[in-house]
Amino acid sequence: MNLTMDKIVNLCKTRGFVFPGSDIYGGFANTWDFGPIGVELKNNIKRAWWKRFVQESDNTYGVDSAILMNPKVWEASGHVASFSDPKMDCKNCKTRHRADNLIEAYSKGKVNAEAMTNEGMEQYIADNDIKCPNCGKRDWTPIRQFKLMFETSRGTIDGEKDVIYLRPETCQGEYVNFLNVQRTARAKIPFAIAQIGKSFRNEITPGNFLFRTVEFEQMELQMFCKEDSSMDIYNSYKEQALKFVQDLGLSQDHLRFHDHDKLAHYAKAACDIQYLFPIGWQELNGIHHRGTWDLSRHEQFSGKSLQYLDPFTNERYIPNIIEYSIGADRLALALLCEAYDEELLEQGDTRVVMHFHPAIAPYKVAVLPLQKNLADKAQEVLNKLNKYFMCTYDEAGSIGKRYRRQDEIGTPYCVTIDFDTLEDNTVTIRERDSMKQIRLDIDKLVQYVSEKIMF
Ligand code: ATP
Repeated sequence: MNLTMDKIVNLCKTRGFVFPGSDIYGGFANTWDFGPIGVELKNNIKRAWWKRFVQESDNTYGVDSAILMNPKVWEASGHVASFSDPKMDCKNCKTRHRADNLIEAYSKGKVNAEAMTNEGMEQYIADNDIKCPNCGKRDWTPIRQFKLMFETSRGTIDGEKDVIYLRPETCQGEYVNFLNVQRTARAKIPFAIAQIGKSFRNEITPGNFLFRTVEFEQMELQMFCKEDSSMDIYNSYKEQALKFVQDLGLSQDHLRFHDHDKLAHYAKAACDIQYLFPIGWQELNGIHHRGTWDLSRHEQFSGKSLQYLDPFTNERYIPNIIEYSIGADRLALALLCEAYDEELLEQGDTRVVMHFHPAIAPYKVAVLPLQKNLADKAQEVLNKLNKYFMCTYDEAGSIGKRYRRQDEIGTPYCVTIDFDTLEDNTVTIRERDSMKQIRLDIDKLVQYVSEKIMF
């Protein structure tokens, strides 16, 4: 099967996973709305992440910090001064490109464009006659720095406005709350603060569906630790991050570590986990050893001490930070790609089936009365089940068609109510991947499904 992004986009649109943003107005570039099935999928992904990294951890604490922050935060973080990319426009076809990406693609990664000045990049592009990947002409504008933070304003005094920013990353909410959390949770180092929330980036080259959008959700944690244990913790998060996505269903063949050679000046190590999307190997998440940079900068800009007092040794110090961050939308895209399958069946027809891990499947159970006059009994079963999990109900069309509809949205279990149900209180339960059916007592359904959907 040749999996293309178009197939995924199309399935998402027709089945109600994801719609183009502002659809009736012709869309709004690179924004997407999660539909009834998609919102379940994404919520389940976020729940699985939170369960694994917060609920099951004895030293990770959650927060939900404000999107709008004091603008000084973004001065301290370095975003105001340097969160921008070098952009060039093609005057011929009017497409926009990142100069560093053009150079890296041309040199197949051999030239480190990030270390070049804008003049150096312009010269390299001219010397090597690098053309527009879209139209093949070389008619570039000079490089201009493109600001990646969305600015807005907040009126304070009549007529006066302060520039504020939509956060481009969630982690600053953890840094500014480091001591609040430490004191109230009585946390001892090493401990982490985790958060799931929206970030906004005015990306130069957004696209590829959910892969790169201007508004997206991040699931991330910041682990505060002592320097001498920091590399072990960094390595442990690399493994935990890999295991998490494997446990959710991404296959080992489609995953790899990508250690960074070029590091930010303050960083001690950095690694991405890449996934083999239909567009090639791309970053799925990042794990970064950030040293003491973030807390030192906030200490400097806020004037407040952010030192940790070790209760055992009475030592005071700024902890190192290990960051692990993954995009919920980007992970949803990877899981959609991985789950998609076109299966050739014995009778010669094909079925499209989404092999989601049951824990992230939008609906856990579809309740299907064999005939419409069994609807009352089916409703009764539905009302029992939907107290425990997200279920759906379908009585339209042949049972075979209804199974196919559920396969396409990845529902792991279909429960069929037939005339025997009225006699003996049993139903047929069909499993999505094997298509095997067994007969089960209605009173055992909740336990049966609960065990199967555990993450
Ligand atoms: P990239 O190199 O793809 O731009 P990044 O290194 O800037 O990503 P981080 O700042 O480390 O990304 O963000 C952590 C995670 O957030 C990424 O690994 C990715 O999963 C997600 N992410 C970042 N930018 C976007 C975006 N524009 N759209 C969707 N997800 C994103």
